Amino acid sequence: MSFPYNSTEKENISCNFCGGNDYKILSKKGTDDLDLISVICKKCGLIFINPRMKKEGYALYYEKEYRDKTINNGAGGSGFSCERLHETTKKHGEALANMFLPFLKVKGDIMEVGSGVGGVLAGIKKVTGRKVYGIEPSGQEASYASSVGIETYHALIEDFTDRENKFAVVLSTQSLNHFLDPKYFFVWAHDCLVKDGLLIVEVMNFRHQLKKSGLFKNSVKIDHVYMFTPEVLKAFIESSGFEILHCDVDEYVKKEKIQGIPRVHIRIVARKLNLTPFKNLSTPKDLYSKTLGSLNKFKIYMYYLLHSRLANFFKKRV
Ligand SMILES: [Zn+2]
Repeated sequence: MSFPYNSTEKENISCNFCGGNDYKILSKKGTDDLDLISVICKKCGLIFINPRMKKEGYALYYEKEYRDKTINNGAGGSGFSCERLHETTKKHGEALANMFLPFLKVKGDIMEVGSGVGGVLAGIKKVTGRKVYGIEPSGQEASYASSVGIETYHALIEDFTDRENKFAVVLSTQSLNHFLDPKYFFVWAHDCLVKDGLLIVEVMNFRHQLKKSGLFKNSVKIDHVYMFTPEVLKAFIESSGFEILHCDVDEYVKKEKIQGIPRVHIRIVARKLNLTPFKNLSTPKDLYSKTLGSLNKFKIYMYYLLHSRLANFFKKRV
């Protein structure tokens, strides 16, 4: 990787969930052999990169990555196709909508944060028949989405001011790892939802990712600023003023593959409660110790050897 991570300016941050500054270092290496320091908060168990690049560093990183995606990925820069991405992610949206529809008891529109080319929203629109909106920081993807009828604001949530229109659903899929301030997103969602509105979050299960890859240095990524386990994510969302209605992971049970639903993820459906976000934290005393214990490097590596390496070995023999 050519991105100059080591020379990019870093900052130390407090825990985004509980505000604590007491943490334990889990690993000092990440993918691409980068010196990514991942830590776990000793109060709430949240895992994050610390110190981390400043906002400007991430902006540069995304700009570069975006250039790689559009220019280097195919002949004449056409390898990255908004159209193709829109079609493939539409199935994902349909599957997600089928999952949350039984919980959706209130009227209103649906908002996705980090909506990309609008494929997920197109699928949701098809299944629910509701009006859908997106917020997307990439100009090219936002304008593509709008051109195919998915109304998309080219903005960051911090700059989105259309607050008069409250939503029945606020959704984030495969974006939460990238947010520099997930707490802001949860508070924002709580504020933007109607009474009893739903928050839907789909994000990589870090522990499951570790079990699949065996080592921290294969799982900690430069752009995954925060890493979530199901237990800590639930506590984080509850503390934001929500009731968890549904949570599914495929970490322990081998589930049948549903077309469009990504594996190794956590999916949560939560209902907005009439509570002030973060007034009371939902952090059981043993949340940190249990989370840390579940990330034990030896246990993780043994799991990896038994489930991934051996399974692949036998698969090849058959
Ligand atoms: Zn914390």
